Amino acid sequence: METTEKDILRGGQFLVKETKCEDVFTLEDLNEEQKMMRESTKEFVDRELWAHWERFEKKDYAYTEECMRKAGELGLLSVAVPEAYGGMGMGFVSTMLVCDYISGATGSFSTAFGAHTGIGTMPITLYGTEEQKQKYVPKLATGEWFGAYCLTEPGAGSDANSGKTKAVLSDDGKYYSITGQKMWISNAGFCNMFIVFARIEDDKNITGFIVENDPENGISFGDEEKKLGIHSSSTRQVFFNDTKVPVENMLSERGNGFKIAMNALNVGRIKLAAACLEAQRRVINEATKYANERIQFKTPIMNFGAIKAKIADMATNAYVDEAACYRAAKNIEDRIAIREASGNSHQEAELKGVEEYAIECSILKVAVSEHVQHTTDEGIQVFGGMGFSADTPMESAWRDARISRIYEGTNEINRMLSVGMLVKKAMKGHVDLLGPATAVGEELMGIPSFDTPDFSELLAEEKDLLARLKKVFLMVAGSAVQKFGPDLEKHQMLLMAASDILIQIYMAESAILRTEKNAKRFGEEAQATQIAMSKLYLYRAVDIIQQKAKEGIVSFAEGDEQRMMLMGLKRFTKYTNQPNVVALRTQIADKVAADNGYTFD
Ligand SMILES: Cc1cc2nc3c(=O)[nH]c(=O)nc-3n(C[C@H](O)[C@H](O)[C@H](O)COP(=O)(O)OP(=O)(O)OC[C@H]3O[C@@H](n4cnc5c(N)ncnc54)[C@H](O)[C@@H]3O)c2cc1C
Repeated sequence: METTEKDILRGGQFLVKETKCEDVFTLEDLNEEQKMMRESTKEFVDRELWAHWERFEKKDYAYTEECMRKAGELGLLSVAVPEAYGGMGMGFVSTMLVCDYISGATGSFSTAFGAHTGIGTMPITLYGTEEQKQKYVPKLATGEWFGAYCLTEPGAGSDANSGKTKAVLSDDGKYYSITGQKMWISNAGFCNMFIVFARIEDDKNITGFIVENDPENGISFGDEEKKLGIHSSSTRQVFFNDTKVPVENMLSERGNGFKIAMNALNVGRIKLAAACLEAQRRVINEATKYANERIQFKTPIMNFGAIKAKIADMATNAYVDEAACYRAAKNIEDRIAIREASGNSHQEAELKGVEEYAIECSILKVAVSEHVQHTTDEGIQVFGGMGFSADTPMESAWRDARISRIYEGTNEINRMLSVGMLVKKAMKGHVDLLGPATAVGEELMGIPSFDTPDFSELLAEEKDLLARLKKVFLMVAGSAVQKFGPDLEKHQMLLMAASDILIQIYMAESAILRTEKNAKRFGEEAQATQIAMSKLYLYRAVDIIQQKAKEGIVSFAEGDEQRMMLMGLKRFTKYTNQPNVVALRTQIADKVAADNGYTFD
């Protein structure tokens, strides 16, 4: 059945509207074509990447490039590229699947892959003219050419629109001369073209250009950066010195570069989240195998509760992350289809489709990059001393994971963006926060119901709790908006706390909906572990939300108002039946141990 406008929520609306489990897409919904895509990606990874992970650690940049070419031959670079430009033109979910499963073996390759297929290619497919697309995209899709994205400068990191790189129009109006220094450029060592952002005259906003890599044209490089991780991902400074770029290579319009940069990053963020999934699964698999085999005190260490707790939390995070990533991916895919059906070009539809879910993209980027960090850290711990050794893949996985919290917008910037964009959407009337926030305010003044709720249905209490957690966000963020108005953006600690609440709600809800949908079709028994994981995650989310909300409330409310909000917080986060977290963790870990790895994808 075709999805229509009214069937799917707009970006950010998850907070104020109920989502039915039937309306979320899950990994269990993959069609045959998508499953085949996943299998061939996994085969490629096992054969070319996982089997050679030491080479990536030894800074074998040439091997990364070789693998990128092989990925191109197999069509893995062209999944998202429309057929008209030599690509496979597959949907957003398939694109996410490839990003996900190609990224497990080494962060070096996933960075090269992401920089090329995402921020290196997408600006042209999203904003390029027909001529630009015909000229560059087919080469990028096959891996004949590789792309890189030059936004960051020594003085312009998070403040990306403050770059000093200049573009000066020639007297005859035929080309621009670009001069400036770009920093931290992934794929710089082997790319054939760059997306470069530069300022024309004293424009408020930067402008995007497609620049071919030609050493005769004033382009030079710094040495490879010495990095904590992703050792075989080429990262260099790029210097442009009077580099001549034909006017027809301007991307979109003059002054539109910041918008291009941000939209490319929106896509980049959700794909980066996907790229942190298989990395988690592989670490869980290795840690589980090790824990099942390693004997201490005459028993496999897996039998120790301390280890089980880690395995349970690692598996839970991966399961929740899968739920949230594919839920958002399908929303984006559907939104693109709706826009195309209503007459938008594919290009326009894709742009608007991803932009619509920019809040979710930021949420996912933060949550999943922090989960992969936690999982790799616990992976080392499970391996004990061997985890600290460079001879096991735990050590490199931990170092490789660290970058995900920094690039594609740091997690601080993405936390602020998630709340900031939501408030903006509310102001524009795209998401009605005011109505629900007012209702929560009234509820706080009223007398609470003393009825005993009926939680006999599967996950009923969890869903009820989720609805109340949304009220916590509305209470805290709504009051903060009222109190500070546009000055809210200056209250960063409060914004950080609010975004943590928002993130936890989206992630926990996604897991619960995935599990509910699957329990309905596959039976509760078949989903017993997934039910436990959803409950465990929610329990942890409630803890975080309590702490963050309290922090926020106390920072700006006093006296009676503070007391009322703290009482509301207590009411909104209350369990009728406290989950037995020890039993949940034991159940989850026992299943992972018995399967000798993560088997929920
Ligand atoms: C390995 C690697 C690969 C990369 N690849 C690319 C690439 O291919 N292309 C590209 O263009 N860039 C790339 N980058 C750059 C990356 O996107 C930036 O490092 C990132 O955006 C942060 O900028 P910065 O390093 O200047 O840090 P800063 O902006 O200086 O930030 C430092 C700290 O201050 C915080 N901060 C900054 N501003 C604020 C604020 N307003 N409020 C609160 N906190 C703030 C940040 O969150 C961070 O914790 C790469 C970086 C690395 C390390």
